[in-house]
Amino acid sequence: MAQAFFGGVHPHDMKAATNEKAIEQLAPPAQVVIPMSMHFGAPCTPLVKAGDHVKVGQKIGEFHGLGAPIHASVSGTVKAVEPRPYSMGGNITSVVIENDMQDEVSEEVQAPADPNALSVEEMIERVKNAGIVGMGGATFPTHVKITSGIGKVSTVIINGAECEPYITGDHRTMLERPEEIIGGAKFLAKMFGVDKVIIGVEDNKQNGIDAMNKVIAAEKAPVVVEPLRCRYPQGGEKQLCQAITGRQVPPGGLPADIGCAVFNINTTCAIFRALTTGMPVVRKIVTVSGSGIEEPKNLECPIGTPVSALLDACGGVKENTFKLIAGGPMMGMAQYTADIPVAKGTGAILAFAADEEKTVENPQCIRCGKCVSVCPMHLEPLFMYQYASKGMVEELNAAHIMDCMECGACSYICPARMHLTHMFKTGKQLVKDKAAADRAAAEAKKKAEEAKEAAAK
Ligand code: SF4
Ligand code: SF4
Repeated sequence: MAQAFFGGVHPHDMKAATNEKAIEQLAPPAQVVIPMSMHFGAPCTPLVKAGDHVKVGQKIGEFHGLGAPIHASVSGTVKAVEPRPYSMGGNITSVVIENDMQDEVSEEVQAPADPNALSVEEMIERVKNAGIVGMGGATFPTHVKITSGIGKVSTVIINGAECEPYITGDHRTMLERPEEIIGGAKFLAKMFGVDKVIIGVEDNKQNGIDAMNKVIAAEKAPVVVEPLRCRYPQGGEKQLCQAITGRQVPPGGLPADIGCAVFNINTTCAIFRALTTGMPVVRKIVTVSGSGIEEPKNLECPIGTPVSALLDACGGVKENTFKLIAGGPMMGMAQYTADIPVAKGTGAILAFAADEEKTVENPQCIRCGKCVSVCPMHLEPLFMYQYASKGMVEELNAAHIMDCMECGACSYICPARMHLTHMFKTGKQLVKDKAAADRAAAEAKKKAEEAKEAAAK
């Protein structure tokens, strides 16, 4: 059993509602709304306009700089390119496609003649063109992670921790598609030039571990499954690296700084599909669960499917539902509407209706120190809360607030029910705003000095 990381909590995993249910294919939606920002980086530029006919897998959004392209997930007619609500808050330019139900695949989708004959450069190019991003929710462009890690990375890790309560999409993938995971891991081994890939899986998924080990043995694949003791947030890539290698990512650093690269289970499957069939990321497995859901399920659907269609496929939400979350209960974002689309990073939709609302008005810190003892990033949440609530940016920087991964472990453990994680999102924005203001002021000062010098000549 792999060694642990610092801190963490043990929430009830609440996975029993869906972990024995096979992934179901959602009935094709009449319309999809595909946001032009489903990745870490700048939004894509739409390549289509209203009236255009599109096919499955056709590129409809081009990225610039850091990002990944976006593809049509159904065939049909573009009805509009306009701002629509999405799960990260606010509105984002989206391509609305009316599904013609023909499932016509684009000529752009081309399988390689021999996937095993692809060079490393060709593999990376295909990963890039397939629009693959971190499917666990981080949505960092996968081709960038691979390119920047080659030569630096000696340990490639597949993240099968799936430590957030309720979510079981990765677990079901291990049981139902182990060949895709092991196939993707083999491609990653080739790209990074390593002789072994490690899959980290929490030990509450023993049947998933067994399913993958069976394929590894049959294929004599250079892959090892490492069982991990359950602890949240084991799925954080820095925590997973530490649990598996014992090496700790330095403050402000990345896994590559300690020779590691981490890929989610379904990202690995997406790599396998892109390199064998040529199909880009156009579908997503979503766990729909929580006390507000009549019949919890794991559903696979085209990217851009309205969340309301997923809820309908699960019998709808109960009358007294008070909260809808996109993502897990620890790190997900509360939503004010179900009129948002499934994006590349949407792993779960949760609805809550039972007596689970535990917030209190005007909470007061009792200085118990529990938040400090569980923070996996060695931060001091009680002080960060005070600094953020008073807008003390210098103190926030000194307290390393930017290292906060917003995992929610401190909020979970806090007996006073302080709104810690929420406050840290605000605090991080304060730090970013101040840095941007400082940069703008420095730029303005430089320009003024240059103008003064020019005038003096
Ligand atoms: S856990 Fe909550 S009450 Fe305890 S020190 Fe931290 S913020 Fe204060
Ligand atoms: S939310 Fe931030 S401060 Fe709280 S435990 Fe997680 S990393 Fe630490």
